[in-house]
This record gives sequence, structure tokens and C-alpha cells, in this order.
Amino acid sequence: MNNRLTEFLLPELGVRGAVVEYEAGVDTMLGSRPYAPDVRRLLAQAIAAMPLLAAHTKLEGRISLQFQRAEGPVQLLVTQVECHLGEGRSNGPGSALRVRGMAKARADAGGDFAELLHGGQLGLLLEPEQGGQNYQAVVPIEGHRLADALEFYFEQSEQLPTVLRLAYHGGCIRGLMLQRLPLGEKNSSELNWEHVEALFATLGEDELATTPGLTILRRLFHEETVRVFDPQAVELSCRCSREGIGAMLRSLGEEEIADHLKTHGQFDVTCEFCGRQYVFSADDVQQLFLGARLQPSNQTRH
Ligand SMILES: [Zn+2]
Repeated sequence: MNNRLTEFLLPELGVRGAVVEYEAGVDTMLGSRPYAPDVRRLLAQAIAAMPLLAAHTKLEGRISLQFQRAEGPVQLLVTQVECHLGEGRSNGPGSALRVRGMAKARADAGGDFAELLHGGQLGLLLEPEQGGQNYQAVVPIEGHRLADALEFYFEQSEQLPTVLRLAYHGGCIRGLMLQRLPLGEKNSSELNWEHVEALFATLGEDELATTPGLTILRRLFHEETVRVFDPQAVELSCRCSREGIGAMLRSLGEEEIADHLKTHGQFDVTCEFCGRQYVFSADDVQQLFLGARLQPSNQTRH
């Protein structure tokens, strides 16, 4: 399992956590779009955060994280994770977590997180699969690192003390999250949390980037009891498909489609996440609408 999420518990300190590691596919995912190095680093860090958010929420469905700054060098940075936590345990089929990400930025965008995104907004959207209510939170972007902005989100929206470290180096992405259990739960206390925060503060981004997750946990918590759970597979890939793009074209309506075909002769659609290109000729488009008409409609039920 090259890419994985490992959850753990510090039972005697009332703290839970998760470590995420991507060792494969990072450069394939990020390399297909021409991102400036600093934008690429932020995108990698946001990609690291997604499985950690999945571990935190335990959601079955989709989580989207969005950084937006309308007039900034990075106008938009979006990462998503599809969560199916029942799947992908060490012996199970498929991946429990599938992550993708993209950014809209100026080609020469450079600087640290604050320079690129301070003054913008962080949005988090949770879309449960089984018909639950969507949840959306928006907070101002604060701090000097992407992890700081997420810590600020946890402080504002969840009111659970949380610390994160996110690192990207040499084709590897790693992230670590620690969170105090709610006060009142076993061994959760301000004092224990301060102790854990002090240990966490000794971990630098470089060390995190270059050290296997379990080694990090052993080093940080060598005097503590750590209960480590089975890792879950994380896949770094886009879920876009020709069928999905076709459905999007159909939703444009026949009139708009006809106008576009008159001018351009065909549709060239590029997936904003992975950069994959889809071409639909006039014949392809005709087939799309024909197929749609032949399908029985269930829109008329009341
Ligand atoms: Zn795609």
C-alpha cells in the first residue's frame, strides 16, 4: 500500500490522530498541469489534508476543501476526497479514499501560503452519500501556512483543539493531525493536550516529509502508549469519465450545443482536476441526445 491513512489513539492522553502518506502517483497527478513550484507545494499540502479530514469527520461521501482569493496570484485551490471507509482495509477491495486536487493560479505565482492566499476565504463542504444534509463552513484564511488555516478552521467551526503538519518533498507527501478528544472523555484534559502539543512542536516539516509515518509516531511518542489502527488505502486519481462529461454536455441544452457546434465544429472539454481531454464530435453529441431521449423519464412522478 503506497498511499495510506493510518489512524491512531493516545489512550492515556485523550488524544486521537492520523498520519497520511503518499509515496506514489504524486508527480503524475500534479505534473499533468503546469503549476508554479510554490502553487504545487500548496496543492500537495491540501492533498495531504484531505484524508485527515476524512478521518476527522468519518463521513461517507465527499469532502471538498476550497481556498479562494478573487484577485490574488492563486485565485482558487480545490481538493476533494471521496470517502468509502468500509472499503480498502488491508485485505479489502478498492480504495477507501480517493483524492484529487486542482488550482487556478497565475503562471508566475510565487511566495509562501500567506503571500499567495491571505485575505481570501477557506470553505469546507461535506456531502454525505446517503441523503444526509450537506454541511458548509466558510472562514477567513489565517496564518502563515496552509496547516495554520486549517487549525483556525477547527478552532472556529469545530471548537476542538487540533494541530496539523503537512509536508511535500521529492515526490512524497505526508501529513500528521492530532486532536484532543472532547473534555469529559477518558483522559482528555488541558494538561495532557499541552504535553502533546509540546511533543508535536518538535516535528519539523522536513523531518515529516522524509520519515515513514510509523517511525514519526515512535519518535514523537516513545514514552506514551500509542494504539495504531489498520491503515486504509488512499488513491490519488480523478474520477472524471467520458460518461460524466457527456451528462454535463446534455445538461447544457440542445440550443447552446447547436450554437457551439456551428462555431467550433466539436467540443473539447478538459477536466480541470487532472487535465485529461475529452473530444465530442457533432456525431458524438447527436448520439448523446438520442441516448437521453430513449431513456425512460422518471421526472413526471408526483
Ligand atoms: Zn479528471
